[in-house]
Amino acid sequence: MNETALERFLRYARIDTQSAEDSASYPSTAKQWDLLNLLVKELKELGLSDVTIDEHGYVMATLPGNLPPDHSAQGKVPVIGLIAHVDTSPSAGGKDVKPQVLEYRGGDIKLLGDPNVLISVSENPELLDNVGRTVVTSDGTTLLGADDKAGVAIIMTAAQTLRSNPAVAHGDIRICFTPDEEVGAGTKYFDIQKFGASFAYTVDGDKPGELNKETFSANQAVITVHGRNIHPGTAKGIMVNSIRAMADIIVRMPKDIAPESTEGYEPYIHPHVLEGAEARSTLKILLRDFHTPGLEVLKQKLEQIVAEVQALHPRTRIELKIVEQYRNMKDYMGTDPRVLDCLWEAAKRAGLEPEWKPIRGGTDGSRLTERSLPCPNIFTGGQNFHGPTEWLSVYGMEKSVETIVNLMQIWVEKCSLNSYRANF
Ligand SMILES: [Zn+2]
Repeated sequence: MNETALERFLRYARIDTQSAEDSASYPSTAKQWDLLNLLVKELKELGLSDVTIDEHGYVMATLPGNLPPDHSAQGKVPVIGLIAHVDTSPSAGGKDVKPQVLEYRGGDIKLLGDPNVLISVSENPELLDNVGRTVVTSDGTTLLGADDKAGVAIIMTAAQTLRSNPAVAHGDIRICFTPDEEVGAGTKYFDIQKFGASFAYTVDGDKPGELNKETFSANQAVITVHGRNIHPGTAKGIMVNSIRAMADIIVRMPKDIAPESTEGYEPYIHPHVLEGAEARSTLKILLRDFHTPGLEVLKQKLEQIVAEVQALHPRTRIELKIVEQYRNMKDYMGTDPRVLDCLWEAAKRAGLEPEWKPIRGGTDGSRLTERSLPCPNIFTGGQNFHGPTEWLSVYGMEKSVETIVNLMQIWVEKCSLNSYRANF
């Protein structure tokens, strides 16, 4: 089982694990079991203990600590978790993925399966960091699935590296592979108690060196316009067409607070699903802000729009409902600075220039952190997730493995009696 992260990734990428929205089953698609079951087998082959898979598909395993009994950190190193998801996004094909491995020499990358799909340097300046290095793409007809099979391959390779290098001291490590992250349900049945880690890291980020401790806080708003339908032939003075009121709502959605016009820490209001007929129309809207109280401000903007349009269409009835989605993990990260400090130091020791980057989205870690398992996110080397131009830097993947191995050692150093001051 001595495999590189790339070899592992290529095997996993070819297995179709696409999840599905609005499925009645969990995992949302049965095919995710193929990779989940394979990982159970491979974790056992790597010699990990307590390898389990539950009825929901969560795979868990332990890499037992190897500290000698007289080590000053013995009994003090918390159990550290590593988490990645096996499913790929429903927004692009995930079947018959044909990974293309190429030595990147510069310039745009043309994809063999579809001449219209191009990975351009102008949109991907990070490609230039990979000149002379190995890059993986799909053939352009599917996504690649680096999100998050790169994360899965990285964790498996880090476990293999730690197993075959007993000189690297580490405490107990727990590993979990989850289904259905891409459909917002990756932590739905995640048993934090059973996992038993005090701190964990998702391996589900992108550019080498990028680390994440902040995500959006997220609510969904649903606006429903109730009208009245009747045969159009006899509709005069009776029909109340909800579509007309909904159109007036949509034109009022602020264009300067939209995903297309914002970046960094800026919030947004994003109308993203529209359904309608005369009697009833609904609009689903994503509200996003890093600053959780800011969600209230976004809601008030919608209330204003609804009031205005209600006055224009007095015979309709317009409702606004808010559904809480997830919260910025920073709000719940807790007071132990080690969870972030160790990660920062681990990336530096891997020769990278680490950077904390706010995620304009949520991760499984947002929900786990809110449920009191602090869970920052680590890069994988993948980019352009969820579409046919997704690509993976093998250098980034290898640096992620190195960062994780360092991370486990640094936790031991931080918990040792004498080294804390010396190293930090
Ligand atoms: Zn992901």
